Amino acid sequence: MNRMLRRMFRRGDFDCRDTRELGSDYLEDGLAPQKRSAIQSHLDKCGPCRAFIDSLSATIGILARLPRATPPASFKQSVLDRTREEKQSH
Ligand SMILES: [Zn+2]
Repeated sequence: MNRMLRRMFRRGDFDCRDTRELGSDYLEDGLAPQKRSAIQSHLDKCGPCRAFIDSLSATIGILARLPRATPPASFKQSVLDRTREEKQSH
């Protein structure tokens, strides 16, 4: 990941591999604005990556309707806290 980021910053542009690796972050709005626009400018000139992002977004749309496989850490922590409290009160 870090090696990939260094490579991207050196070139200042994304290639197909970068776009595909960051595709899910892009679709979930998890990217910094400059990376987002770098992907967007790659998608503007690259049909295969546009098709990839389209099918990825369809996949994510399906997954988003399912229960989350990995709840956020804060959620996990509050479940742990609750379990501990229940144990103490008995
Ligand atoms: Zn591409």
